[in-house]
Amino acid sequence: MKTTIALAGNPNSGKTTLFNTLTGSHQHVGNYPGVTVAKKQGTYADNGFEMTIVDLPGTYSLTAYSLEEVVARDFLINEKPAVVIDTVDASNLERNLYLTLQFMEIGVPVCIALNMVDVAKSRGIEVDAKRLSDLLGIPVIPTIARNGTGKKELIAATNKVALDPKIPNPLIISYGQDVDKALVEMEAEINSYDFLTNTYPARWIALKYLEKDQQIISLGKWKNPSLASKLEQIVNRVSRHLQDTLDTYPEAVIADHRYGYIKSVVKQGVLFRQYDQNRLYISDKIDKVVTSRFFGPLIMIAVILGLYHFTFTYSENPVAWLEGFFEWIGMLTETHLPDGLIKSLIIAGIIDGVGGVLGFVPLIMFMFFGISMLEDSGYLARMAFMLDRIFRAFGLHGSSVVAFIVSGGIAGGCAVPGVMATRTLKSPRERLATLLTVPFMNCGAKLPVFALLVAAFFAENETMVMFFITILAWFGALLVAKFLRVTVIKGDCTPFVMELPPYRLPTLKGLAIHTWERTWHYIKKAGKIVLGISIILWAMMTYPNLPDSKIQEFEAERRAAKIAVSSSVIEEIETPSENNELSKEAQILNARLVNIDARQAEAGLKYAIAGRFGSVLENVSRWAGFDWRTNIALVGGFAAKEVIVSTLGTAYSLGEVDPEQTEPLSRALAKDSEWGPLVALSLIIFTIFYSPCFVAVICIVKESGAWKWGLFSMVFNTVLAFILAVLVFQVGSALGY
Ligand code: GDP
Ligand code: MG
Repeated sequence: MKTTIALAGNPNSGKTTLFNTLTGSHQHVGNYPGVTVAKKQGTYADNGFEMTIVDLPGTYSLTAYSLEEVVARDFLINEKPAVVIDTVDASNLERNLYLTLQFMEIGVPVCIALNMVDVAKSRGIEVDAKRLSDLLGIPVIPTIARNGTGKKELIAATNKVALDPKIPNPLIISYGQDVDKALVEMEAEINSYDFLTNTYPARWIALKYLEKDQQIISLGKWKNPSLASKLEQIVNRVSRHLQDTLDTYPEAVIADHRYGYIKSVVKQGVLFRQYDQNRLYISDKIDKVVTSRFFGPLIMIAVILGLYHFTFTYSENPVAWLEGFFEWIGMLTETHLPDGLIKSLIIAGIIDGVGGVLGFVPLIMFMFFGISMLEDSGYLARMAFMLDRIFRAFGLHGSSVVAFIVSGGIAGGCAVPGVMATRTLKSPRERLATLLTVPFMNCGAKLPVFALLVAAFFAENETMVMFFITILAWFGALLVAKFLRVTVIKGDCTPFVMELPPYRLPTLKGLAIHTWERTWHYIKKAGKIVLGISIILWAMMTYPNLPDSKIQEFEAERRAAKIAVSSSVIEEIETPSENNELSKEAQILNARLVNIDARQAEAGLKYAIAGRFGSVLENVSRWAGFDWRTNIALVGGFAAKEVIVSTLGTAYSLGEVDPEQTEPLSRALAKDSEWGPLVALSLIIFTIFYSPCFVAVICIVKESGAWKWGLFSMVFNTVLAFILAVLVFQVGSALGY
């Protein structure tokens, strides 16, 4: 026998982990909202049954406000799974049961996996599963998805529900006089027209009308306009009445009553808390100050500045050690490998390319540690809460803040999960505006670019410049969002309620794990993508080789320089001894030879494919102060932003004046006459705003459902970035910087 089972529940309740436990497959398990993008399917067998189990996206409700909710609901309705396994986070019982109630209201067979009982226990929360099961009338199986506890029992209970031919009656909750009366009235209308009644209970359709569910409302308009207008009339009447009498909306009344129902269930001997109450109380007290209108923003700025200061101060030594380490490896290779292509590939392509990126690992790690601390303590949620007010003014949404922060709003995120995080946004327009602007945030890959430039040109003001870069990114993102929302994606904002989880003292173990997960992701990326691209770019910077005639010219120059001096001087240079100072003449000759080497290296780089390409682009990029080397780096950066640093590393290493002395890129840049603080600033601005990296563009295309938006973000962002960079560079030059 074959049966389909749906796995549903709130985001982060452990669905994917449970899915993996049940099916033995390895789906990605993650903590970002919306990581489970599409449904995932697997099977397990038990006593001759074959179960197809589908991991649905996490949702808080079944009203079609967001894409996940639509995906989850459509699956329930269209596929009619035999059982819905509802993963309920035991440590957050009341909130999770909100979704459970909605399954029960639709009348699908439910089996609760009461997950994370270990977490609940560690927080002093105990749930009586038997009692909960009795009160709700559905099986409740305690589980710990992470180690497989309760798996057998859950499978047994699920099979029992699947075999039960009785379909449960939809749960009926009272929503208070006004709403109940309207519901009865609407139900009668819906039944008399048979509107969708073979898919949903009539009362449920009526509820969706009151909750302003766009999917159902437009279905009504399309299938049955006269019924739709009757229903909408009733909804409007109740809405007005509720506003006049209670100053509230039907959606709010419905949510209140559902929570009321849950409270009454939970209070009847289901939930025992040891110290939670107290913790909530303390949280409220802290919030009075931390999220207040006056102190809130000040504290927020102080926290962010503190984070940057912490990162730059403590990472300084480890970064220097790593740089030293790569210098040392470079030197070893230099002395032990024979000259030639392999040596050039290893030194210029790999060590200077990938090493340039890996050198920032300590800095990234400190940054991630700080971010994990903000996240685990609950402060990040407060930031989102405070920024919500600002975001609305720009046509975005409180949930956009989460997407921005995931993308690197404070520092070191990634636009790919950021774009996916926009799935929690209810309105499609706000969602689109958000997913088009999250790539402006300072993701972990842009950080090394900034860190490099800041270290080379603004070393005295690292914290402030980093803060400035952050503000600039946010400001730009918000202005672009506003621009999009009044031009290409016009439309109203949706109302939004943000929940604040209680503050928690982060555990060292939790912080360590989170920091490591993120850092490891970064290292892996540097290892795979950046290595590959570095090698390709190295080849493009090496081939085609200078023609022989050119090489001969440089050789001739060398010979000429040597002929001009006596043979003892040449001997002095060719057999250098440790303690002897070079004579004046030898020093001059040496400088001359080094200069010839450098010009040959540069000519070689310019002659290669990448150099030619960069030189052509220079005609335009000159306006922003970028030379051909920077152009190569920026084009490479489209593959992954880290590549900007690794390419500059390779380019400067190939054109190295004195190959015996590999030096950190930041020092090389600081010394180069083509560079200066103004060019650095122009490049920083360009890096913030130009096209998202390749992977992010693909993600934008997938999430927006249209190629045109991926193309738009590439072209629009790059043009915008270029205009800003030109502005800064030209104005700065005119002012004499
Ligand atoms: P989903 O969003 O519902 O798919 O949740 P995930 O399966 O991605 O899990 C979110 C996080 O909770 C992951 O870090 C899991 O390892 C963790 N997790 C899942 N189930 C349990 C559990 O029973 N106990 C504990 N301690 N952690 C769990
Ligand atoms: Mg998941």
